[in-house]
Parts: sequence; structure tokens; C-alpha cells
Amino acid sequence: MKMSRTVEVTVKKKGRLSAESDLELIDRYIGTLYMNGHILGQSFVVARAPRGYRFIVSTPLKDAMSARCQLASRHVKRALQALAEGGFNKPKVANVSCRPSAEGAGFCSCAESSYFILFTLPTAEESPVRCGDCFQSVPLYHLPPSPIFGEAYEEIGWKREFDSVDRIHTCHGTRFANRQLTDPESSLSQSGRGICLDIELRTGKAVYYVLYRQNLSGRNEGLVKVGDRCPSCNGKWKMKKPVHGVFGLVCKKCKLMSNTIDPYSARQ
Ligand SMILES: [Zn+2]
Ligand SMILES: [Zn+2]
Repeated sequence: MKMSRTVEVTVKKKGRLSAESDLELIDRYIGTLYMNGHILGQSFVVARAPRGYRFIVSTPLKDAMSARCQLASRHVKRALQALAEGGFNKPKVANVSCRPSAEGAGFCSCAESSYFILFTLPTAEESPVRCGDCFQSVPLYHLPPSPIFGEAYEEIGWKREFDSVDRIHTCHGTRFANRQLTDPESSLSQSGRGICLDIELRTGKAVYYVLYRQNLSGRNEGLVKVGDRCPSCNGKWKMKKPVHGVFGLVCKKCKLMSNTIDPYSARQ
């Protein structure tokens, strides 16, 4: 079951507070936590606390704010060093709540995933990298960091691009949005498939990209159909039984998947 975890982070200063430069350092710290998947959501409010500041954030798993996981990222490490140089003590993390949640995917706790799937749902907050075995979300800080960016810059960027394409699709049902979601050569698919290759290189595991179909009832005119053959290699890709109850079309050669069942209805 998915647990929703909320923590309060307090950063206290030894010397006098100086709002502008203090907040700059704290924003940088929060930004690096977000870009590495330690915290979820996109807007964070920082409030004053005695001799410092505090902010409340939700995290994917219990270890998200552990020193070990934070220091594994070179960007978070640098942001923590900058805070220390600015006169701050080590941030203190306190649990606020941990309760079952019906929204979104849960988080993968497999000892090792045998493969991954790049897949998200509109407005989902969790990481778009799913474990191929349990189909739960894999916190981005659990993946080896990208040697180029050192953080999950591309995964988070792709997720935002997906959300904006989906918004166009939902509001206008445009051909453009359909093509972006279902054509393996669209710019959204190309950037997603590039990320899949990158994660494959970092983990040594296969990573599938999902050509995401909406409105499977077929009522939406102009909906681009994904056919019975893989749109990339033209090989057969129909499964006898949908993978995770959702993906009835899978091409192992091209590492592409497509949903034949609406993921929302499959989750209920
Ligand atoms: Zn898993
Ligand atoms: Zn194929």
C-alpha cells in the first residue's frame, strides 16, 4: 500500500539571520532535493522558525532524507556545504505524518528490479521510473546519478513535458498531443526513449518506454491508434495477457510498450 510521508526540515543558524542570502541557500538546497527525487511536489513554502527556517515536504520513502542518500548526490552535497558555509547547522528532519494514501503509485521496495518502465500518469507526483517487477515507482535517488547532470534533470524534465502534452490532449484532443503520446518518433517519445537508454547504461537493466493511449473507449475522434504491430519494427507485439494488467502490447526488441487498458481503471 502506498504511504504518504511528510517531514519537517528545520535549518538553524549560528549567527544573525539575513533573509535574502539565507533563503537563497535554502532554496538551492530544496531545489537539489527536488531534482534528485528526495522530495515530491513542485511548490515549497519556507517559514521562519526560532533562529532559522523550516519547511514541510513529502518524501517517497523513509530513507529519502537520510544523510547517506542525500550525500550520494553531488549537488545535494554541495548545497549542504553552502548552507554550512553560510553559518547553518545541519538540517534536522522530523516526521510529521505517515499514513496510507489512495492516490498515485506506491514506491518500489524490491531488493533489485530486473527491468524498469518509464511511465507516468497525468499530475502524478511520484518518479516516472517504474519497477518492472512490482510496477511501483522507483525513487529517483535510488538510481545511479547521471554522470552528465549528476541529478535527475532529464527524468523530471520529461515528466513535465508529458504533463503539458497531456493537458493539451485533455482540453482539445488535438492530433498533435495524440501523436506526441503514441508515436515512437515524436519529440516526447524521442526524449523519453533517450532517457530509457541512459538509465539502461547506468543500471545495466532493460528500460521500456510506454506509448500512452488515452480514451480507449475510442469516442475521441482523431485519436491516433496503436496497431497490432510494433510501430517501430513492425514485429508482432500483442501479449496473451497484459503486463501488469495494463500493457497488452510489448516489443522486447524495441523496448516499447503500449496500454490496452486504461491505467486508471486497472488500478481500482
Ligand atoms: Zn519493485
Ligand atoms: Zn519493435
